[in-house]
Amino acid sequence: MRRPRRDDEAPERVETPRSGHQRGRQQRGAVRPSPESTGGGGSDLTPLGPVGTDRVRVIPLGGVGEIGKNMTVVEFGQDLVLLDCGGKFPEDNQRGIDLIIPDVTYVAERMRNFRGILITHGHEDHIGGLPYIIPQLKSSTPIPIYGPALALGFIERKLLEARLEDQVDLREVKGGDTIQLGEIKAEFIRVTHTIPDACAIAIHTPVGTIVDTGDFKFDPTPVMGKPTDEAQLKRIGNDGVLALFSDTTRVETEGSTPSEVVVQKRMEEVIGKAKAQIVIATFASNVSRIHMAISAAVKHGRKVAVAGRSMEQNSRVALDLGYLDPPDGVLIPLDELLRQPKEKRIIVCTGSQGEAAAALARIAAGEHPKIRVSKGDVIFVSASPIPGNEDTVSHTIDNLFRQGCDVVYSAIDRGVHVSGHAGRDELLKMIRLLRPKFAAPIHGEYRHMMLYRDLCETSGMRRENVLMPEIGGVIEFTKDSANQKGRIKAGNVLVDRLGDREEGQVVLRTRENLTRDGFVVVTIVLDRVSGELIAGPELVGKGLPPELNANVLREAEGELRRTLERKKKGSPQYGYIVQRTKETIGRALYRRSRSRPLILPVVTEL
Ligand SMILES: [Zn+2]
Ligand SMILES: [Zn+2]
Repeated sequence: MRRPRRDDEAPERVETPRSGHQRGRQQRGAVRPSPESTGGGGSDLTPLGPVGTDRVRVIPLGGVGEIGKNMTVVEFGQDLVLLDCGGKFPEDNQRGIDLIIPDVTYVAERMRNFRGILITHGHEDHIGGLPYIIPQLKSSTPIPIYGPALALGFIERKLLEARLEDQVDLREVKGGDTIQLGEIKAEFIRVTHTIPDACAIAIHTPVGTIVDTGDFKFDPTPVMGKPTDEAQLKRIGNDGVLALFSDTTRVETEGSTPSEVVVQKRMEEVIGKAKAQIVIATFASNVSRIHMAISAAVKHGRKVAVAGRSMEQNSRVALDLGYLDPPDGVLIPLDELLRQPKEKRIIVCTGSQGEAAAALARIAAGEHPKIRVSKGDVIFVSASPIPGNEDTVSHTIDNLFRQGCDVVYSAIDRGVHVSGHAGRDELLKMIRLLRPKFAAPIHGEYRHMMLYRDLCETSGMRRENVLMPEIGGVIEFTKDSANQKGRIKAGNVLVDRLGDREEGQVVLRTRENLTRDGFVVVTIVLDRVSGELIAGPELVGKGLPPELNANVLREAEGELRRTLERKKKGSPQYGYIVQRTKETIGRALYRRSRSRPLILPVVTEL
């Protein structure tokens, strides 16, 4: 299933380490965990002994008080499992950071009891951390990863690319399956979302059952797969649920989330009316939207190609596993599609979040190596901006309008995208099916979690039975109580890829080792129209080793200035400048000092 990298396509901003492709097995040693990984120190942290068999311990390592990097530890007796292993996209103001992952020190210190990773579904915020976390979980035997087939397909691709495939043992499960992990039993439950094969997971222990809903809605007419298995949820509820950890992303919205069918209908209407080329932008893992594009293409006599490396790879996985099954000649390679007349083309691409390196932003900036858009073309942005990405998304949409395109996007057309997450009525329905003793909001920011607590009260639960989990906050349940018991070492680990030419190294940074390596802020001011340098680059260092003195910084500045001046004229491509800055400065400083401070480019356009 591996396909060679296409060098003419920009790698996605958040992906597996690119070096795996080019550098072969060197990657394996290249992920440098933080030196604190063996420590677990810190004065405000709670020393925790074994959990014993009279209670079950749950610790969220990510995904609470934030959207992204979902990961939760569940521990009973001698057995510990991880639910999901997500990454988080950096926000607009975190340029220079490639990905954020949870700190897994707690798990790495308890590998004797570690029984495996259970995956709810194949979205990045649930699987994106794996290539960086697997090497930190030093295990003499392959680490079992249990999950639905499509998620495992995506995971396999990521881990092959990172050359980590023999460090894991991928085991497929389906909704309805139960697996035994020591004394813990994990039961998978089919739910609907925006990706086929999503599951909730019930963890059965002798103390009681903990349910993690994963991402869900109750879509009665999913475009792929079957509806949420309400009978199984009800049965689990009847048997008794100690605690429900529920998705809360969409708790602000009344009623139920519309079905995916809404998007399918709208996409067909838009495509039916269009006279020229169609470009559909969505997440690379959104297989259902590719499926919809294919059925619309069949209906309206068009052909489909996907653009963007991760989109190509994911659609290949979905084809191989039979999730996509287009009639012959409908899904064709991009080059072939571009030889068709414009009115026959549908291009499905990445970049719905405005990511600078992804296809849509490059198309919008007129910098895509192959795809050109012009007056009359229709761009269908089938996603809504993740909070924090609004600016880059707006910038991309502006550029598309400038090129003369008709852009259909979520702010002006509610049919282009529907959420994959449950509205209030559906969240209540989940509570009523499971009737838990305790509940805890996850997959939400703080306000979502507070609103969920109110919602639980309206369902008849006692307010004090709704916990507010924190990253690293320890919750212990007995048969009839829930106690929040202090904190363990947890938080953000920054994934810093050092660029293509830096021998494929990936450095993982915690707040602590930032003080050790220091960081360099690179200020650049560009002319918004011509892209010419107005001021800078200027390097300011903080906490740098003595070898990185002022002279060395000046030399690196000069190197970067020459690189930027060589860039061809024209509207600056923000992401490109950020990337080149990181690469050039990172390389220059490493050559002179063998140290790797974090490079933070600050690019201002005037
Ligand atoms: Zn999801
Ligand atoms: Zn999610």
